[in-house]
Amino acid sequence: MADRYILTLDFGGAELKHVLFALGTGEILHEHPNPEGPFYRPDPAKSRCILDGHLEDVPRKDRVSRHLAVETTRILNEWGVAPGRIAGIGISVAGKVLCSGQGRRVATFIGAQTPPAFTVAGPYGQRCVNTTGGLLKQFPRIPILIGNDCNSTGDMQSLAYEALGTDPATTFFITIGQGFGGGGPNMDVDEVGHVKVFGVHPAVRLRCGCGDWNCAEAFASGTGFPKFARRLLLLYRTRPATLAAVSRYERLGGRLAADQDLKTMIRTSPLRTARPLDAVAIFRCASLGRPGGDAFARYLVRTAADMTGHVLASVANVHGLRVFGMGGGVARNNPRYVKMIHAAGNRLIGKANKLMPGGITVELSPLGALANDYGPASLVLKQHFRRHVPAWIRTMRQLAAKAKTPRGKTRT
Ligand SMILES: [Zn+2]
Repeated sequence: MADRYILTLDFGGAELKHVLFALGTGEILHEHPNPEGPFYRPDPAKSRCILDGHLEDVPRKDRVSRHLAVETTRILNEWGVAPGRIAGIGISVAGKVLCSGQGRRVATFIGAQTPPAFTVAGPYGQRCVNTTGGLLKQFPRIPILIGNDCNSTGDMQSLAYEALGTDPATTFFITIGQGFGGGGPNMDVDEVGHVKVFGVHPAVRLRCGCGDWNCAEAFASGTGFPKFARRLLLLYRTRPATLAAVSRYERLGGRLAADQDLKTMIRTSPLRTARPLDAVAIFRCASLGRPGGDAFARYLVRTAADMTGHVLASVANVHGLRVFGMGGGVARNNPRYVKMIHAAGNRLIGKANKLMPGGITVELSPLGALANDYGPASLVLKQHFRRHVPAWIRTMRQLAAKAKTPRGKTRT
C-alpha cells in the first residue's frame, strides 16, 4: 500500500502550523510553522490582520476557508506530497466549535479574538468562521474535522492514558502557558481557566482577558502571575493602609502565617525591581524546592497553586475526572508548581469522600511538549483509523521520553 498521511492544522489567531504524520505509525514527517497566522496583526493600532491584505477578490467571510485551502495546497507542494495521499485532516482552533464537520459538513467555530468581518451567521444567528469550506472542495472524499485546541490535545492525551491503563474518560488536559485552559475527550469544560476564584480581597480583584473579574486565569497563568504581583506592588507604593488590610485578610484566610505581612515581604523582594516582571522572574525568585526562595514570590506562587487546585478539584467532582495531565510553558518549566497544585487539590478532597476515593492526580502530561502537535490528529485518528492508535501511542511515548523540556517556550 502506498504511504498515506494525516495532515493537521493548528489554527490559532496569530499562528498557523501544518504537520504531516505517517498514518500507520504517527511519525512526524513534515512541519510548517507559520508564526504569522491569518489574524496576525502586525500593527495592532490599525487593527488590520494578515487576511485583510490577502485574497482580496474573496469576500472576507469566505477568506479564512479559502486561505486555509490555498496555504495547504502550497505547503503540500513544497513538501512534494500528493493531495491524494492525505487520509484525513484534523484542525485545532482557538475557540468554541459550533460544527465539528462530522459527515463532511462545513466546520465552524468562533474565537474570542476573531474579527467579526471574517464571520458568517450560524444556524441560530450566532457569528462563526467558515473553516473547512475550501478544504472540503479540495479534498472531496476524506474526513476533515475541527476541534477546540485544548479538547483536541486532551483527546490525544486520553489515548496515551488509556495505553497506560487509565480510564480515558476520567482524564483531562490542562495548559498553563500565557493563558489557563483545558480540555478532554468529552469535548467540554474547555473554558476551565475562567472559573471564578473566591476569597480574594476586593483591593486585589483582577480583570481577566475575557473581560470578567477574578477568573483563575487572571491570577494563575503566564499573564496572571505578573498582574497579581503588580497589583500588590502598586498597593505597597500607593496604598500602604490597604496593603495592611490585605495582609490581615490573608492571615485570617490562612494564606499568610501569623508572623508574615506583605509589606515586609515586598520590601525585601527582588521582584520590586525585576524587569521584566513576568512569570519567569516570579518562579526564578520563588526558587521552589530550594532553601532561600523569596517570600513574596512564594506567596504569589502558593496562592495561584491553591486557586488552581480548587478549580481542578471542583471540575473533577462535577465531571467525574481523576487525572489531570498538564502542559503549557509555566507548567512544563516548573514541575514543582504542578506538585503544589496536586497537593492543593487533594487538600480539598476529604478522605471520607466516597465519590472521589483516592482524590485526584495532577501531573505533567505524558505527551510532554508534543501535546499540541499531536492534538488535532486525534480528531480523525480516533474515529476513522482506530486500528493505528497503538502504533501512534508507541511513537508518542518514545518521542516524549527523548524530548527534553524546552525552556522559556509558552503557549496560551
Ligand atoms: Zn476570564
